[in-house]
Amino acid sequence: MNVYDSNRMAALLKPLGYDEVKSPEAADMIILNTCHIREKAAEKIYSELGRLYKIKKSRYVAGERIQIAVVGCVAQAEGKEIFKRAPYVDFILGPQSYQRLPELVVRSTGRRGPAFDLRFSPETKFDQVTTRHYHSHFTAFLTIQEGCDKFCTFCVVPYTRGMEYSRPVEEILIEARHLVKHGVREITVLGQNVNAYNGKAESGSWDLAKLIRSLAEIDGLDRIRYTTSYPANMTKELIQAHSDVPALMPFIHLPVQSGSNKILTAMNRRHNSYDYYCLADSLRKARPDIGLSSDFIVGFPGESESDFKETINLVEEIGFAQAYSFKYSPRPGTPAASLPGQVSEKEKNERLKHLQDVLKIQQSKFNRDCVNKKISVLFDRPGKKRGQFLGRSPYMQAVHVFSERDIIGEIINVNIIKGYKNSLMGEIKSCDSLNSKPMRVQH
Ligand code: SAH
Repeated sequence: MNVYDSNRMAALLKPLGYDEVKSPEAADMIILNTCHIREKAAEKIYSELGRLYKIKKSRYVAGERIQIAVVGCVAQAEGKEIFKRAPYVDFILGPQSYQRLPELVVRSTGRRGPAFDLRFSPETKFDQVTTRHYHSHFTAFLTIQEGCDKFCTFCVVPYTRGMEYSRPVEEILIEARHLVKHGVREITVLGQNVNAYNGKAESGSWDLAKLIRSLAEIDGLDRIRYTTSYPANMTKELIQAHSDVPALMPFIHLPVQSGSNKILTAMNRRHNSYDYYCLADSLRKARPDIGLSSDFIVGFPGESESDFKETINLVEEIGFAQAYSFKYSPRPGTPAASLPGQVSEKEKNERLKHLQDVLKIQQSKFNRDCVNKKISVLFDRPGKKRGQFLGRSPYMQAVHVFSERDIIGEIINVNIIKGYKNSLMGEIKSCDSLNSKPMRVQH
């Protein structure tokens, strides 16, 4: 979502004459778009700011002035504290106020005091359609939902991104058609709880399943993904869409956090482990080859060794194509930060290692099981080696192949010859069917 937001900011600044440069040394303005989800991410900002201050100083000595801004969730959470710790910051902007970026740039130019805007107004944040998409010309993110009303006791999102908000259907469809017209073949729709999507349309309100069916009708949009989903918001309709919308990719990121019901209750999750088992089951019935992904937190306050074992059991029982796992990070102002029974760093480290070892084995197995299969890959970038190209499988695996022909922008059925920990190696035979359409890119 920060990538999507950064694109939007770049698009907003273009009319003011700003363009992107490759290094901070060459910039007239540096915007740090920040994440507050875990302490490590937030602390990184201050060390990065220290580095940027040096650039600002040396440019100042040379008679030039550059602006430094902090935007995103750290700006929202820390507020004016940032100016105290880093007084050389020119302005800060919360994640729901990006439409005011040009105004702030102007306001902070030539004024003495720092400028800031930390209001919540997601409904106007999206006013401008963006055609910019970072990863490649062929894949794009599209935010459809923001914010969170769930109040998991560990999480800062409701405080930094605000309450759940869904963009209206028409606005999303316009943006999606626009992206496809510019060559995009795969769209990942985004939201903090994307499957809680409930957007206004002329015919009433639409859920994510209905939106996906409508996106799938856009001619030229070959692949649709969505992330991140909240388990209690999975609907029968969405699961059904996995069975009968071919463009919907067979991969889902569905964070469970823990396998222990005691911990899930303490986290204020609205699902228990049984619900999660049932969801995994229904998804696999709808789409037998679906790849499951998840998030896990180890060392939540009160997590005992046996609670942790229940997480391991869940992982072993369900089997994941890939997953993210984190040590619990107390976030200021969240209920769990002041709970008794905080787990020691040593135990958190041990549990994280144990969990990651199990997850790594599963990921390697998932990748190895692809060997000798034909898998469709959307190639969207060159590889590191000469003649090498990189793309994504339907299950989000990175796939690399060698080809004499430039295949960027094509979807090709590739023979998988090797499965590694983090990627697959494929081979294109001359007789391989190319289900690619002529490139529609407009540079
Ligand atoms: N809305 C989704 C998850 C989005 S947040 C859901 O609730 O299921 C992204 C992930 O960051 C979470 O799934 C969680 O695993 C992790 N996370 C959030 N707060 C955290 C914290 N305080 N400590 C460690 N991990 C955290």
